Formats: sequence, C-alpha cells, structure tokens
Amino acid sequence: MEEHLNHPVFKMLAAVAAQNNSEAYVIGGYVRDLLLHRPSKDIDIVVLGNGIDFAEAVGKQLKTKVAVFKNFGTAMLKYKDLEIEFVGARKESYRADSRKPIVENGTIEDDQLRRDFTINAMAISLNEANYGELIDPFGGLADLDARLIKTPLDPEITFSDDPLRMMRAIRFASQLNFNIDEAALKAISKQKDRVAILSKERITDELNKIILSPIPSVGFNYLFDTGLLKIIFPQMANLYGVEVINGKGHKDNFYHTLQVLDNIALHTNDLWLRWAAILHDIAKPATKRFEEGHGWTFHGHEDRGARMVPQIFAQLKLPMNEKMKFVQKLVQLHLRPIVLAQEVVTDSAVRRLLFDAGEDIDSLMTLCNADVTTKNEYKVKKYRNNFELVKQKLKDVEERDKIRNWQPPISGNDIMNYFGLSAGKEVGLIKNAIREAILEGEIKNSYDEAVQFMLKKAEEYGLRPKE
Ligand code: ATP
Repeated sequence: MEEHLNHPVFKMLAAVAAQNNSEAYVIGGYVRDLLLHRPSKDIDIVVLGNGIDFAEAVGKQLKTKVAVFKNFGTAMLKYKDLEIEFVGARKESYRADSRKPIVENGTIEDDQLRRDFTINAMAISLNEANYGELIDPFGGLADLDARLIKTPLDPEITFSDDPLRMMRAIRFASQLNFNIDEAALKAISKQKDRVAILSKERITDELNKIILSPIPSVGFNYLFDTGLLKIIFPQMANLYGVEVINGKGHKDNFYHTLQVLDNIALHTNDLWLRWAAILHDIAKPATKRFEEGHGWTFHGHEDRGARMVPQIFAQLKLPMNEKMKFVQKLVQLHLRPIVLAQEVVTDSAVRRLLFDAGEDIDSLMTLCNADVTTKNEYKVKKYRNNFELVKQKLKDVEERDKIRNWQPPISGNDIMNYFGLSAGKEVGLIKNAIREAILEGEIKNSYDEAVQFMLKKAEEYGLRPKE
C-alpha cells in the first residue's frame, strides 16, 4: 500500500505522529477511492487520542490555519488542493429515537466498526512500525473486488442505528455501479420506515447524488425495490405499472422514465436537466384514460406535470428558485419538439418553439432526444432523422429571425406612449397581436412593419395616435 501514499503530505503527517508519540491513520472514503483509482481531495485522518491537538500540530508544521469544531471533536485544514479532516478514534453506541450516537474514545478497530460499509471502513497506517499497511478487518478490499456494498456489523443494527445509511448504501451502489449485499438489501426493505427520523434535506442530498451518478437507474431500482421510493418520493413510485383493458396495455412509465434518465445522463451532468427527465411524465398516472377505439391516452400530462413541479420541489426541499422554473418549463414543453418531429415542420411552429423555450432550447432538445426509448429500430431512426431536421430548422430560423431571447420590437410602454393610453386591456391585446403576427410570419420582425401592424390593429379598437 505504501506506494499509494505518494502525496508528500502523508510523510509529513507520519512525522507529526512520530513526534507526538501518537498513532494516526488515513481512513474511509479516501482509502476506498485510492484503491478504486478515483481521484479524491478529501482526506480523513483518525488519531488515537485527541484529533484537535494533532491537527494543531500539523497546522503549525504547515504554517496554515486550522478550523476547530469543538462540539464535534474534529478539526480541518486546507493544504494545497486538499482538505484534511482530523478526528480522534471513537466508539459509538446508539439509542432508538435518534441517529446521534453516544460517543467515547476508542481504538482504531472501534472506529472502523462504527463506519457504514466495509469498503468505507479501511484504514492505512501512518505509523513508523507499519507505515502504509492496509488495515482491513472487515474484508473491504475483497468487497471492492466483488463490487459489493456490505455492512461491517449486522445490517439490521447498522440501518436501524442510522437510517441515513440506507440512502448511502444505495447512493454508493449507484455511484460505483456496485451491488448491495443480499442481507443488507433485506435489512433496508425491513427498516425502510426508519427514514422518517431523517431530515428531508439529508434524504434529498443523497437522492441528488444518485441522480448525478453515471447510471442513475441503478440507484432508483434499489430505491423502488426496497420500498424506499414510495416513502421518500411517492409520485415517482406511482409511475410504476401497466394497466390492460381489452388486451391493450401502455408502457410502464416508471421504467420508461428510468430509461430517459439513463439516456440523458450520457449527455449532461446538469442536475436540473436530469430532474426534468425524472419529472417529464410525472402526471401520466393522473391523466391516464382509456378511450374506446383509440387506446390509452395521457392528454394534458405536460400541463398537469408542470403544475406538479413546485409542489414536488417544496416537498423534497429542493430550491424554489429559477432551477425549479427551469424544470417546470421543460416539463411543460417536453412534447413540443416531438410533435415537430412528427409533422411537416413549418417556420412558424419552429419560431413559436424558439420563443417559448428561449435560452433553454438546447436543454429541451437534449431532453426530447433522451425521451425516444422505443425498441423499434425503424421508429428510432425515423425520430432521430426528423430530430436532425428540426435541429437544422431551429438553427436556420434562429440565424434568420433571432427569436431566442427575443423581445417584440414594440413594447407595452411604446404602445401607451403612441396612443396616450395608461396601462389597460387594449395595450396587452395589441402587444400580443404584434407578437403573434411576427411568430406566425404574417409580418417581418422589424420595427417599421410592427408599427404599421400596430396602427391597423389600434384602428380596430377605435384608437388614434396621440397628436
Ligand atoms: P463521498 O465523499 O463520495 O461522500 P465519503 O465516503 O468520503 O464519500 P463522507 O460522507 O465524507 O463520504 O464520509 C467519510 C467517511 O465517514 C465514510 O467513508 C465512512 O467511513 C464514514 N461515514 C460517513 N457517514 C457515515 C454514516 N452515516 N455512518 C457510518 N459511517 C459514516
């Protein structure tokens, strides 16, 4: 293992340990990521004894500030691009009503035993006697090889003590594309209701990490199969299932949504665009109808879905800001490019889409591309070809008309000044009529044509320009 610790900071930490006559170990995520060859900038150091004193000694050596968190018995310092956290080795015991343990000083083994998973419980010694040795009492290395998330203790106890570990197990499985050990998975299914003692923010924090993982469906399948999804995000679990009437079924919207999410994950790391993929069909269960002679329909699921977005964001404590508005807009518009791809594309339809999507047009096209999940090769090809056409059209129309972020050449204020009006219904009607005429291609996107059109329209309302 010694060759892994090739950053000079480790030799320095070892020297401080030797000087102070204390023992220190690198532990947890950094060791795991080192063995997985995933670069990591967060180093956790466990010290036998007082972690804060040790950190102060290191700070002195490095001539750098140490942030001390007395209540937690931890200290942190930054060195170059690394963040190093220090804590004394501890032994933990839990009560039933809280995820806050009773903490005492402990041995390195005690400290490893309190860790959530075997792959997170490995330590590397920084001590003279065995510098660089991997200390792996629970077979973390073997579990890394087997790509397995497993708890060092009985999983029932591990998850009951701290239910956040259920979310963490699924999050690590998703981030690393690992399996969750059979017994641990059973324990999660059994203990799922314990998530009730967690804050919504913590749950959503883990959920967002699952969403940002390379293949998010890995995590969502676990969330669904253990029953956790139904508790933490019931609207999504509700997408599951196929109803059959007169021998006609519809696609399973849960697995379709996961497919769209995995597809979009190949093209973007934007959390909010991935959220749009999750929510694009969220109102399908609520709008589902069986129409005789026609089959299953989900009319208006985009409007209804867009209306559900703020409520879901509030429930999950996601930000109620422009990110929410972005997701809402994409849910609202997600069918529009597909409709364009199916029909003969007119310039006015393209202009209208560009106007409605504004600067989010590229995100919308990414979402729509991901939404093509049919297994029918012929259909996929046809859609993709049509999409290319729509993309080309969008480019042409955008270059010519500059509709993206466009504002009509005449504003409400212009109209009021022109006719000596105060704000009122007519101003809005004339303004909209000008915008529509330009989007429909009846008049050019120019000030002169807009003025001519405005005068004609105003006449219909009996308005005359101010002298
Ligand atoms: P990442 O940085 O990707 O979140 P990490 O493993 O470094 O991964 P942290 O949350 O920083 O995650 O935790 C650091 C270490 O602390 C973990 O590797 C694990 O050993 C331990 N740990 C963190 N949270 C818990 C928990 N809820 N229960 C038990 N051990 C935990």
